[in-house]
Amino acid sequence: MLPLTLHRLDLVSDADASDCLTRVEPRDGVLTATDLSATRGDGIFETVVVVDGIPQALGPHLDRFERSAAMLDLPAPRRELWMRAVTEAAAALHEHTSRGAVKFVMSRGDEAAPAAPTGWALGFAPDSRTGTRAPEVDVVLLDRGYRHDVAQTSPWLLQGAKTLSYAVNMAALREARRRGAQDVIFTSIDGFVLEGPNSTVIARIDGDYVTPPTDLGLLPGTTQADAFTALEGWGESVATRRIEVADLRRADAVWLCSSTRGVAPVRSLDGTALAVDIPLSDRLNDALDARKA
Ligand code: PLP
Repeated sequence: MLPLTLHRLDLVSDADASDCLTRVEPRDGVLTATDLSATRGDGIFETVVVVDGIPQALGPHLDRFERSAAMLDLPAPRRELWMRAVTEAAAALHEHTSRGAVKFVMSRGDEAAPAAPTGWALGFAPDSRTGTRAPEVDVVLLDRGYRHDVAQTSPWLLQGAKTLSYAVNMAALREARRRGAQDVIFTSIDGFVLEGPNSTVIARIDGDYVTPPTDLGLLPGTTQADAFTALEGWGESVATRRIEVADLRRADAVWLCSSTRGVAPVRSLDGTALAVDIPLSDRLNDALDARKA
């Protein structure tokens, strides 16, 4: 990734949103060495893709940010401030690129100066997608080690929150590379398909486009939601329901969806080739890029 713009947010002041935002140099420091985001991964974030200066699905990203804040007992984000931060960052990013992303972060704050959350918005050029076509991926299934009902039995594990603690997700991606793949679909220990380390799964099974429900402890995917809206608009049948691993293996197409990548076709699962539907993938990515906000 190439950092291009950076805004610091004052999350304590109740001044107008515009007065709580400071644009700084993209490589300037915004954190102290005692910030809990760095020392504990204790905070939340969102990454919004920006096409021609327009932050896409900003409303759903802000909704999810608020949901994550509530799950971590963080202060409720001031929506108009975060919206302004992302919109300004997106406009600044447009000076550099027609396709970028804004990552916005709220940390619990500085361990040495409690009770003041830290916030920033970083505009960057992602390296996950070049051009309009999302790269095809080889995927391995990895056991996440939790049952399908972990979100209900053990909410303190924060499954389904977008926290800064992504070390496990990154370790899973390294394991995929060791196995000759580039990506992962997590499964529950009792055999249900979950999500990728940074993506939502869509599978086409018996003619239906299916994604697993978020009550399995999954992040509600903004890209998957908009892909389903497009598919429904084209008269396709979409469904949110549990997918057993055996059903995924017999799917006639599978995609991983995320903001920066769009809809990426899965080319193989645990070394077994899967059919890829390039025309549909391209059509979906075009529909996603055409979103207005
Ligand atoms: N699931 C996880 C665990 C993620 O980290 C992400 C995005 O990074 C997604 C799903 C996809 O979410 P979105 O499409 O809103 O980017």
